[in-house]
Amino acid sequence: MTPSSFVKLDGVAKRWNGQLGVEGISLDIPEGSFTALLGPSGCGKSTTLRLLAGLELPDEGTISIDGKDVTTSAASDRNLSMVFQSYALFPHLSVAENVVFGLKVRRVSKKERQVKLHRALEITGLLGYERRKPGELSGGQRQRVALARAIVAGQRLCLMDEPLSNLDAKLRNAVRKDIKKLQRDLGITVVYVTHDQTEAMSMADTVVLMKDGHIQQIGSPDDLYSRPNNTFVAEFVGAPPMALIDATAFASVFDNSATVGIRAENIQIVPSGQGRLRCVVTESEFLGAETLIGLDHAGASGLCVLKPGLAMVAEGSEIDIDFQDESLHVFDADGQRLTG
Ligand code: ADP
Ligand code: MG
Repeated sequence: MTPSSFVKLDGVAKRWNGQLGVEGISLDIPEGSFTALLGPSGCGKSTTLRLLAGLELPDEGTISIDGKDVTTSAASDRNLSMVFQSYALFPHLSVAENVVFGLKVRRVSKKERQVKLHRALEITGLLGYERRKPGELSGGQRQRVALARAIVAGQRLCLMDEPLSNLDAKLRNAVRKDIKKLQRDLGITVVYVTHDQTEAMSMADTVVLMKDGHIQQIGSPDDLYSRPNNTFVAEFVGAPPMALIDATAFASVFDNSATVGIRAENIQIVPSGQGRLRCVVTESEFLGAETLIGLDHAGASGLCVLKPGLAMVAEGSEIDIDFQDESLHVFDADGQRLTG
């Protein structure tokens, strides 16, 4: 085990009656880092988190936390806290009682409970809400109570499974920042499950992108955005997603290329006859600071360009586009990256 890895999964697999949950999951997570497990619904994010938490046991592989092999340890012996999408608060208990519930169970003294409660409510901006019941709080406040409960647990490792899914977009943004700040201020290690690439990209130091129970790529948000391993990563990460073009659609300068990827920001609209591809406008979507113009070209998917400001273009009009070879991502017939 490398000295820097605080959480380590090595070749972890989980199946139910032969049905695949996850397979070949190997991860090295340094202490104090923020790791996002990202991927579409059913790809194995929660399974990975539950294996780490000890709520499931692996069929293969090993798991260690803080240098200790916990592969078969009970969840209660793993020294971690968890935050779920469903806040899992007791509806009949007040905010304060919910937050210190675990401490009470562990027979922590009343004085210590009070100190920890105060600090956790301060951090999560919930001072003054001690006596409220969960039913008297907004979704964002409830999620903050769940966070406060995780904070008072005082564990160095916190696992979160889609904690923001129940919140509306604006609140999600706010709590996203809260969680990130909390993680930094407390110096804790967070493993965070989300299907939302924006969330993963904006919060995580390291993103683990999964598909069908397997890891597709592990890297910084920039790694995944700028150097996607394969066409799945290319299309999953970034908004708008990378466009993929059949390499035979234009004279390609790359050997063995089957698919060429290009991001909207690297496409230029050029005067008629001067571009590499002639496209038909399918839609214009005003986003505020810019307008997203969808383009159709035989053998291409997801082609679009961004124009500054309000710049609607009539559906069906023709646009010529161009791009530099350096900005192309080249993939082979199996969708694997060829360019460096
Ligand atoms: P995600 O969290 O990425 O949406 P999950 O980890 O929940 O995905 O699920 C991964 C796969 O494992 C899915 O195919 C799911 O149906 C299956 N799975 C998860 N939990 C169980 C279970 N308890 N029994 C059987 N299959 C399960
Ligand atoms: Mg899940």
